[in-house]
Amino acid sequence: MEWNLPMIKKNFIASRIKDHKSNIVTKMWDIQQKLDDVIAMGRGDTDLDTPRHIIDAGIKALNNGATHYTHPMGMPELRKEICKDIINNGGASYNEDEIVVTAGGQEAMFAIALGILNSGDEIIAVAPGYNPYFQAAELAEAIPVMANTYIDNNFAMSAEAVEPLITNKTKILVIINPCNPTGAVTPYEEILKLSKLAIKHDLIVISDEIYSRLTFGNHLAQPVAVLPEMFERTITLNGFSKAYCMTGWRVGYFAAPKNLITHLGEIHHGFAICAPAVSQHAALAALQGPQDCVREMKKIMQERCDILCKGLDEINIPYSEPQGGYYVYANVSKSGLSATNFCLRLLEEGKVIIYPGSLYGDHCDDFVRFSLTQPAEKIKTAVSRIQRVVSNI
Ligand code: PLP
Repeated sequence: MEWNLPMIKKNFIASRIKDHKSNIVTKMWDIQQKLDDVIAMGRGDTDLDTPRHIIDAGIKALNNGATHYTHPMGMPELRKEICKDIINNGGASYNEDEIVVTAGGQEAMFAIALGILNSGDEIIAVAPGYNPYFQAAELAEAIPVMANTYIDNNFAMSAEAVEPLITNKTKILVIINPCNPTGAVTPYEEILKLSKLAIKHDLIVISDEIYSRLTFGNHLAQPVAVLPEMFERTITLNGFSKAYCMTGWRVGYFAAPKNLITHLGEIHHGFAICAPAVSQHAALAALQGPQDCVREMKKIMQERCDILCKGLDEINIPYSEPQGGYYVYANVSKSGLSATNFCLRLLEEGKVIIYPGSLYGDHCDDFVRFSLTQPAEKIKTAVSRIQRVVSNI
């Protein structure tokens, strides 16, 4: 018997994003394997290592026997620390039994989608946005609806654009602030309007705040659960991967009112039993230790961003203002190529990997995402390679 996708999972036949993604990413991997000295600015995983004191805490924990399962919802001392940290960062006041520590924010997304969405429900998510939200929705047999954002207002979400998308089947609204891939920070006033919409239409909001510590200049990302009447309908999703350079540790969390947490925590338990014990100890050290490492990282990202933007200015490639996260989102349509073909040419001829925005549900194929995941010198080299490829085009 030969298996095919619809037989394996009804409805998970692949959205245009998934189709496109598997094609382009596989193609890029194939090309990259044949090349040396490729500068990787595709994946959202920085070259910076986890700060030393966090690694040491992990090693110490292992030596002290942290090799077992923990409490399914996460070590109580870590959950307590997370509650304090959320408040310190302007968020809502949660109890430790309103937190679930997960194997990265990614696991949280799938636990939430599978735990809340029924077949045919609709979930509105910012687009371009982090594409696993769309995949998680499809896996739950729900319908992902793209809330498109545009360069005219620097890819901020707008309540005005979201409201017409709401139907009687809409159950969840996903806000990613700052947003991946656009680096947009949706301003406070708009977050407030979006939260009023959620109240008016009785929606659950997933507020993805994973980049909230990494904002540039005066931009600040407003936590959602702390806004009036939003606590009971908000799931706050966050993690340690980005701010503490801990992508490989696989530790994140979500926070929500008790009634939701009890149910969603059970799903997490089924998925993972618990987040890795060693990583939970490291996460605890990240929160309890000095925060200079986060400030230092922000400085490094700002410097890299400035170098890249200056280079793009010189080549005449426009981009939206990077306000947070570690991405620059640029429009390459002047090259005469689609963003997808631009990425392929840049890899083949310039040995730089970047991703097309269409991977993230962008409605057009004009934009590319640069990840600031290489040291300044390499970014400079990448800029000169881009310049060469662009002049050949
Ligand atoms: N949310 C956003 C917006 C992301 O960009 C990512 C990863 O790139 C995640 C969540 C998941 O991160 P992790 O699973 O490493 O915590």
